[in-house]
Amino acid sequence: MSNSSIHIQDLHFEPYISQTEIEVMVRDMAESIRRDYAGRNPIFLVVLNGAFFFAADLIKAADILCEIHFVKLSSYSGTSSTGEVRKTLDATVDIKGRDIVVIEDIIDTGLTMSHYLPQLTADGANSVALASLLVKPSCLKHEVDITYRGRDIENSFVVGYGLDYNEQGRHLHHIYHQVG
Ligand code: 5GP
Repeated sequence: MSNSSIHIQDLHFEPYISQTEIEVMVRDMAESIRRDYAGRNPIFLVVLNGAFFFAADLIKAADILCEIHFVKLSSYSGTSSTGEVRKTLDATVDIKGRDIVVIEDIIDTGLTMSHYLPQLTADGANSVALASLLVKPSCLKHEVDITYRGRDIENSFVVGYGLDYNEQGRHLHHIYHQVG
């Protein structure tokens, strides 16, 4: 991984998780998902925008019969949680009786998923699992069952591999964390 630090707007970031490490995490998670869901035709519900690279890589690597749909949930503004969850795009698929795997980029306080996952169960899903690339355990305030987790990280703000700061930085191949 390059050692170069970067600036996005007013913030300074340093390399944190390399593209190679990300690839290993994603491959391991995909193997677990394939083991658990092959033959079940699950619905992958991708949480936009942050999870789009992760979901694409994960679903391709899992390589099983499935459906892919998208939702947009928002609880963050700048570098912190607003404490409210807004659904700004809903999936138009009937989830009754289906096995759902929600794909999220990062769990911070757990607020977003603690609101959303029970809604899927209430809407009649047969099962609901959660795959999150990153988790900040020291920030968790709401109970969330994370079925597939890539890696726990410290409490710092991260960008790259789909994750943004004010919509910038999603294109970065490595994950960077805020310093200073
Ligand atoms: P939670 O509801 O668990 O507090 O927050 C989850 C959402 O907050 C994530 O889907 C993501 O959009 C955003 N988020 C939390 N931590 C970070 C972070 O370190 N970097 C970025 N870019 N987004 C984050």
